[in-house]
Amino acid sequence: MSSTDPPTAVGAAPTLTARRLDGLADRVFSSPDGSGDDGDGAIDVSGPATDERIGRVPACDADDVSAAVERARDAQTSWAEVSATERARIVDRFGDLVADRREELLDVLQLETGKSRRTAVEELFDVPTGCSYVASEAPGALAEERRRGVAPGVATATVTREPVGVVGVISPWNYPLTLSMADAIPALAAGNAVVLKPDEKTPYGALLLAELLEVAGLPDGLFQVVTGEGPQVGPPLIDAVDYVAFTGSTATGRTIAERAGRNLIGCSLELGGNNPLVVLGDADVDEAARGAVQACFSNAGQLCLSAERIYVVESACDEFLDAFVRETEALTLGTGYDYDADLGSLVDADQLARVESHVEDARERGATVETGGRARTDVAPYCYEPTVLTGVEPDAAVACEETFGPVAAVTAVPDADAAVAAANDSPYGLNASVWTGDRERGAELAREIDCGTVNVNDAFLATWGAVDAPMGGFGDSGLGRRHGPEGILRYTETRTVGVSRVGPLTFPDRIPTDWFVRGAFAATRLGRRMRRGVDEVRRRLSRR
Ligand code: NAD
Repeated sequence: MSSTDPPTAVGAAPTLTARRLDGLADRVFSSPDGSGDDGDGAIDVSGPATDERIGRVPACDADDVSAAVERARDAQTSWAEVSATERARIVDRFGDLVADRREELLDVLQLETGKSRRTAVEELFDVPTGCSYVASEAPGALAEERRRGVAPGVATATVTREPVGVVGVISPWNYPLTLSMADAIPALAAGNAVVLKPDEKTPYGALLLAELLEVAGLPDGLFQVVTGEGPQVGPPLIDAVDYVAFTGSTATGRTIAERAGRNLIGCSLELGGNNPLVVLGDADVDEAARGAVQACFSNAGQLCLSAERIYVVESACDEFLDAFVRETEALTLGTGYDYDADLGSLVDADQLARVESHVEDARERGATVETGGRARTDVAPYCYEPTVLTGVEPDAAVACEETFGPVAAVTAVPDADAAVAAANDSPYGLNASVWTGDRERGAELAREIDCGTVNVNDAFLATWGAVDAPMGGFGDSGLGRRHGPEGILRYTETRTVGVSRVGPLTFPDRIPTDWFVRGAFAATRLGRRMRRGVDEVRRRLSRR
């Protein structure tokens, strides 16, 4: 897709022009016979801050998708032969480029998501941080490993890790840069090719990252972007790749898992949540209130890790609520390309309608709106005030479904046990936050909460920012983990090679079989005793 338009600015984004966005759209993979190369079936992309069209990207069809995967597969064969250290170097260079090119990336992010620049910068910061981790850890995690052989001196066992091939990454609109790269970068570092399908609302950030990967030295064809609606592009992608890394809603995640299961390919699913935040009686309530504001209203609540249900032990509830409402009312709304606003816009009309209907439903069931509770179309078409509710019925939509907006329900509970029981009363299990003056107790309580990540005296960064530790959900919040070695190794097949030093491991010819059986059992008993002895010595040494 190309344009003859003059270089006019798009929206109010300082660094972007229509021509630049068209240039990025040209990076979408299109097959010779597909829709992408002739501009047919293009889809409009709108900027939420103004609700105006900012550009068009191809609506790829099944032919485009399978041709993109084929091209990626060709490129992957030689990429797998490149050393893990060299691959890591390219990842590192890419991280540096993202940091260097941040102004344009931030403009793209704000333009297509409507988020505030503060939120955009938090998101962008994740990309070089993740690259730096992957670059330093991937070569070690992927290295060949010696394991215990069948018996000492008899045979060796060595494990190698092979890339799965082509990884399909399907990412959402809420953190389009971070959530594309958190899955794509480790896949590339592990020797795979990647075909990325960004959300149809937010294709430009992904395309700009594709450009930077090329500048960083990633070989041609290894990273492809296909754009279009999920139900059209997703299924042919899953049918063609060797692994799918999906981030999005639980409903879509189930269809992805079904299809991956039918194709017998691996998948990781990072899905929705309805996350709890617990405040104990001994918490510093001002700190907890500041933390709750971050937990509930970052990215206007459109964050999978956002807290939506707050349980406060009765003795601290009034004081906490006062502080939380005060902090919430101090937040500013806006869509400017500066750092003035705390919260930006919701992503579109559907998202605004969902938030409004959840608040309305809670109100109709008797909830009190302590602050907020209104759309702010005077700021931008899809802005909504940060909202605090109390008296929410347990079966209200806000209490049991994911709102994915700036709405938090505060409920008093008698004690810590009741708070944990309420926190666990959900089919989801993504993220939780616990606030207490006693960190050790907080960590103990965290182990009772059924979530993949639990933060003590922090909203979500203590776990999300710990990129060496796995991140993912229990229950309806997903399958598999990103971050840490787990996030790299999911994209590999292991191959175990056993080498016998004594010929075939079967009954020997020259010893009567009953002698051999007796000898073999005696040897394994001796082996077990020696192992127990060694284990005991290790235990004693570790206690010192
Ligand atoms: P969604 O499931 O509708 O869309 C996510 C992606 O899937 C998009 O790229 C979309 O085009 C694609 N898609 C849609 N239908 C598809 C299909 N049939 N086959 C293949 N792909 C398809 O999600 P959404 O509602 O737009 O995103 C918000 C959701 O994502 C929330 O539930 C949020 O909690 C979740 N999320 C989870 C995490 C996490 O790490 N756990 C992170 C961010 C967002």
